[in-house]
Amino acid sequence: MPAKFNFKPIADGIEGAYFLRDDSRITSNIYLFEHEGKKLIVDAGDGRDILPFTPDICFLTHGHFDHVGGVKTGWKEVFIHPSETITSKFAVIPVNAHPLPSTSFDFGKFHFEIIHTPGHTPGSMCLFETNNSILVSGDTLFAGGGFGRTDLGGEGAEEKMQESLEILSRLDWKILCPGHGELEFK
Ligand SMILES: [Zn+2]
Repeated sequence: MPAKFNFKPIADGIEGAYFLRDDSRITSNIYLFEHEGKKLIVDAGDGRDILPFTPDICFLTHGHFDHVGGVKTGWKEVFIHPSETITSKFAVIPVNAHPLPSTSFDFGKFHFEIIHTPGHTPGSMCLFETNNSILVSGDTLFAGGGFGRTDLGGEGAEEKMQESLEILSRLDWKILCPGHGELEFK
């Protein structure tokens, strides 16, 4: 049975920002931002969720199957960091995923800064939505200060992860939206 469509608001008072989370299997959280009927998602889950919409834009925090499996071939604007590589284990980069065109992105009242955070994978990235201080952190940083495994990230991944966590620690985020598990509120 496909998982149920059940996006929830990220926080009271932030209109147009939602998440879908299902910890009953290995699938990423999916984050949804809406503006005037347009939809932007960050990560697409493992593919077993039936999304009753086609996102206009999809950012992938990295190329692992549990984050990219939901990407459909008909989606046009799918972006992944150019450093992400199919040579890493569990990476399945969708054929229609394009390298990021820029490091910042406006979507209605949302403004995203895209931060390269290698360690979990070479092309892991986080999205910092600066107007609401939302950090979408993929598998780099989790609620409670945990971080993603580095045994899949290639040579020097542990050092890179520490550098990436250091960069994230300097951001004044108020809501952490990680790739798995609970959100965190400061
Ligand atoms: Zn991962």
